[in-house]
Amino acid sequence: MLAFCSNDYLGLAGHPEVIAALQRGAATYGVGSGAAHLVTGHSKAHHELEAELAEFTGRPRALLFSTGYMANQGVITALLGRNDHIYQDRLNHASLLDAGLLSRARSRRFPHRDVAALQQQMLQQQSGEALVASDGVFSMDGDIAPLPELVRVCREQGAWLLVDDAHGLGVLGDQGRGSLDHFGLGLADVPVLMGTLGKAFGTFGAFVAGSDELIETLIQGARSYVFTTALPPAVAEATRASLALVRKEAWRRERLQNLIARFRQGAAALGLPLMASETPIQPILAGTAEQALAWSRRLEREGILVSAIRPPTVPEGAARLRVTLSAAHTRGQLDRLLSALARLELSESV
Ligand SMILES: *Cc1c(COP(=O)(O)O)cnc(C)c1O
Repeated sequence: MLAFCSNDYLGLAGHPEVIAALQRGAATYGVGSGAAHLVTGHSKAHHELEAELAEFTGRPRALLFSTGYMANQGVITALLGRNDHIYQDRLNHASLLDAGLLSRARSRRFPHRDVAALQQQMLQQQSGEALVASDGVFSMDGDIAPLPELVRVCREQGAWLLVDDAHGLGVLGDQGRGSLDHFGLGLADVPVLMGTLGKAFGTFGAFVAGSDELIETLIQGARSYVFTTALPPAVAEATRASLALVRKEAWRRERLQNLIARFRQGAAALGLPLMASETPIQPILAGTAEQALAWSRRLEREGILVSAIRPPTVPEGAARLRVTLSAAHTRGQLDRLLSALARLELSESV
């Protein structure tokens, strides 16, 4: 099958240098870390990766988590309690929404990218701390959050801002530094940056980067950091190799941008309902779950894999084919997708 639905945006998951680093790491450290970070699970490999991620994101420190789901849970529950408030974009990733509930802070969701509505909600807050959380690039729509406006509102309201850049890191910004770099924002603008390593980095795991105080707070209070086995050190070694490639090989981002432009041009010519996305996430709206499934099955018969995304991952009536592009795709492969989509449109109209 020719796949157009993975998050391996730069094609690094199968890179020989990343694979070799994983193998060397396993030979050096063994397979498992053996314990939580605070016991004996924290190896030199983890330590070096944390230092490199801090440098990469331009922040004093970074802390590794075993998954992105756990990073969001850890940071939000460590920062907020019962008397605090969390404000989230409606389309935020499930891990952010779940973490908000677990923190017991008062949770409010604002309409997608609607900063004026967020401001109205925040003006009603009487007491407690406030945290605004947003995806940097929205995982199912592919559009970019209005980060400069979110920064302004958070500054006016004295709120923390957390950006989950799972889909921006590696793809956007100079050297792949992500959504923040795309807008020229730094630590003073966005105090909490969360990133995942299982997408453009092609490996596994996640991190939070920020001030010394933030990281110390997480080491003490993020339960999903404290009470779990550390990532295998070999995975940290593989990520170090992939981080070096992310930074150095700008051609991967350029190639991806070319593929995105070619896909959008081709799909628009076919009259397909594209969404306003400039990232490798290029959803084709189907509407009903049945339509999305029918399209996905039809593509599968032609050897092309694009899974149907249905509620509750996306809102009711917004089922879609979530097409994702990767620097590993060739133009020929992209054209195969486009011609299969052309036949789709002929056989089953929207
Ligand atoms: C994938 C994703 C996560 C979760 O990361 P995992 O490492 O897969 O647990 C969190 N936030 C966003 C926006 C994501 O897309």
